[in-house]
Amino acid sequence: MASDTFRAEVKEFLLANCPESMRVPFQEEGDAYWGGRNATFKNADQESWFKAMAARGWTTPTWPKKYGGGGLSKEEVKILKQEMSALGCRPPLMSFGIWMLGPALLQFGTEEQREQYLPDIIQGKIRWCQGYSEPGAGSDLAGIQTLALSSGDEYVVTGQKVWTSYADAADMIFALVRTDNSGKKQVGITFLLIDMAFEGVSTRPIKLISGKSPFCETFFDNVRVPKANVVGEENAGWTVAKFLLTHERSAISGAVDGDMMTPLSKYAKEAIGLNEHGQLNDSVVRAQVAEWEIDGAGFKMTLDRINEEMKAGQSIGARSSFMKYYASELNKRKYELRLDCEGQKALAWEGDKYHDGKIARQFCRTKGNSIEGGTSEVQLNIISKHILGLPTK
Ligand SMILES: Cc1cc2nc3c(=O)[nH]c(=O)nc-3n(C[C@H](O)[C@H](O)[C@H](O)COP(=O)(O)OP(=O)(O)OC[C@H]3O[C@@H](n4cnc5c(N)ncnc54)[C@H](O)[C@@H]3O)c2cc1C
Repeated sequence: MASDTFRAEVKEFLLANCPESMRVPFQEEGDAYWGGRNATFKNADQESWFKAMAARGWTTPTWPKKYGGGGLSKEEVKILKQEMSALGCRPPLMSFGIWMLGPALLQFGTEEQREQYLPDIIQGKIRWCQGYSEPGAGSDLAGIQTLALSSGDEYVVTGQKVWTSYADAADMIFALVRTDNSGKKQVGITFLLIDMAFEGVSTRPIKLISGKSPFCETFFDNVRVPKANVVGEENAGWTVAKFLLTHERSAISGAVDGDMMTPLSKYAKEAIGLNEHGQLNDSVVRAQVAEWEIDGAGFKMTLDRINEEMKAGQSIGARSSFMKYYASELNKRKYELRLDCEGQKALAWEGDKYHDGKIARQFCRTKGNSIEGGTSEVQLNIISKHILGLPTK
């Protein structure tokens, strides 16, 4: 379809189907719809917006139509994103299935697995969580010890995962398990899909410094899992795991803060006001805000360039580490500056007047950005080795 015609069609659809209340950034946790077997909608607007997008497959615009995806070309996806951004439309569905598992299934899954899992991700019917980290395996992910012992056409899984975001709300987990302990630790890992309702799976929430508990410890106690749930080959899960991480890191770089690209100067203006020359009222903060905005604009241009390169067929590879690293650090700086601008008001932790401590809590949450999906130090190691080609010892 000619791009002008498609743009007009998209615009018309969005104006007709995205309610006004879905055209403002998320204000609180419940504003985002995550789907799942037990999901409920916060209100009728959230429901109608989600359903309209899911009906077109536009919760996953690039995924093939045969699984219920949008089947859009890269050019069409760009137009859809531009028009959604122009109207300020919220993402209709937040999903680890979309950002992480789906791309891995499209690359490594069998046709049966794609047919079984992708439509449910697109329609928000199943909510996924990620079972990678363990108490003894974070940065050193290949050190995982959760054991999957072969028993006929099933595995018996025993072990513990940690920092599993939203495990207590998820229906299924994509997990790394050890199926062989005899050789190099990267060999012997298998990528396994486990239903959280299987007997022997349990979760326990962990509280964050922001005061919320979005993640859990996840325990497997002799859980029987069909071997048909292996993605890729047995003992070859490390390849799937690394591929999925590149998708996780690029997703984090675009989503560390839904509000990431709102000019910091807007908040600074509201907090400290302008002088008679129309400049921010504090020269030190003014310089810091300007520096952040210049860095943010540079980062946005770099993301655009990488997106263009991907459209031309290049794989994202190690560049996802650069994107994840820079977005995380930028977001941390942003909230440091927002605290500076707000002064003592930013210290408030609760109370209507201070939006229940939103800025302070979000400041604390940003600290997690440089840990989740691989720490900043680990990303710098990857950048130095795989992008800059620096020698390793
Ligand atoms: C908000 C949040 C959400 C998360 N969600 C999930 C999830 O859903 N599923 C999941 O599986 N995991 C999740 N994680 C876990 C995350 O992936 C790990 O915390 C991360 O990989 C770091 O592992 P670790 O905590 O064991 O720290 P460690 O690996 O023990 O690292 C400790 C410190 O040592 C540094 N370090 C370690 N190795 C090196 C090295 N080689 N070179 C330089 N420095 C090094 C690290 O940078 C870090 O500063 C989440 C974490 C956070 C904060």
